Amino acid sequence: MPPRRLRVKLILPALTEATSPYWRPIKYSLFPPLGLATLAAYLSPDDEAVIVDEHVEPLQLDDRPDLVLIQVYITNACRAYRLADHYRAQGSFVALGGLHVTSLPHEAQAHANTIVLGPAEQTFPAFLQDFRAGRPATMYRSTAGRPLAHVPPIRRDLIKCARYLVPNSIVVTRGCPQHCDFCYKDAFFTGGKSFYTQRVDAALCEIARLPGRHLYFLDDHLLGDRRFAAALFDGMRGMDRLFQGAATVDSVLRGDLIERAAEAGLRSLFVGFETLTPQGPESRPQLRRRSRPAARPRHHDQRQLRLRHGRR
Ligand code: SF4
Repeated sequence: MPPRRLRVKLILPALTEATSPYWRPIKYSLFPPLGLATLAAYLSPDDEAVIVDEHVEPLQLDDRPDLVLIQVYITNACRAYRLADHYRAQGSFVALGGLHVTSLPHEAQAHANTIVLGPAEQTFPAFLQDFRAGRPATMYRSTAGRPLAHVPPIRRDLIKCARYLVPNSIVVTRGCPQHCDFCYKDAFFTGGKSFYTQRVDAALCEIARLPGRHLYFLDDHLLGDRRFAAALFDGMRGMDRLFQGAATVDSVLRGDLIERAAEAGLRSLFVGFETLTPQGPESRPQLRRRSRPAARPRHHDQRQLRLRHGRR
């Protein structure tokens, strides 16, 4: 049976290119692994937890934690499996999760004691309970009913902020309300809804805990739930924050949400253009609702907004 006080190592393995001096400093040192820090929040205060992000620090392999959690992307999968094999050979219990594990569970299962499929907020507490009781299952699959309302504050104390270009990154939603046919999102969230928001007060508390002035929202679609976003931006007014985020064209063109975001401190928005052909919007619901002529005056308004607010 595992000890009462767990030694837990949470690892984000490096992409192959991340060890190159030409890539690592620019691309891979941007954002801390918030997903791992979120899972760490479910550990007991007595547990000894460490997050190692190989993109920004070397990984020591001479230890033997009770539990090793590895986040697997498509591009880091080979490295992740090597690490998993290593720690299993050392006698550690290895759990794998993330996009790649959800896509190819059978491949991942060969390298893990347990795999976690889909977003882990729902299943990870159950896994921990089973693990502490000495009877972990080999697979945990996220299903319907996975709200974010009770997710504890993420363990930012485990993030080595000085190693990142944008340590003040934050996520207040999961998934996205759109369903683009090329996107990973629907497959990852299979078995439940594919868009969730935090409670507004919890999101505002998380923002208030972040030091400094600049924030970077890493949400797939910050404006995806208009009521949530409006309440969030209203709550942020007066907090003297400046922030960036991502959203769709459609969400910018509708209503006054983008103006409210600007009043709250939004200074740039990442928008993905999947197509620039006249036929393209027909296959993209988030673009289809507005024709180009309708969008043009609004775009002009947005330029005015940008000029009005400027960049501080
Ligand atoms: S808008 Fe972006 S995140 Fe949402 S489904 Fe489309 S590609 Fe995926």
